[in-house]
Amino acid sequence: MESGETLTYVLTVKHNAGFLLSKLCLLDEAAMVIYPLEAATFKFAVLAIRRVERVHCEHCGVLVGLLKLPRHMKKVHGVRTTT
Ligand SMILES: [Zn+2]
Repeated sequence: MESGETLTYVLTVKHNAGFLLSKLCLLDEAAMVIYPLEAATFKFAVLAIRRVERVHCEHCGVLVGLLKLPRHMKKVHGVRTTT
């Protein structure tokens, strides 16, 4: 799995896989499963993988989700963006 610094993953996982959040997990994108490293037999079907791109704000350099950038611009810098 390729994961750059500017990429974060939004996963839709079947069942209640909330306990996975506190564990180190492996995501198998090809097989669409995710499983904790310490218990690889517990595999959870991943229903959807959505990559959310993040960008550095050109004004303050903070890392902001692409979708949240317009709001950040307006709220923090008072800049209106066309997107
Ligand atoms: Zn900013």
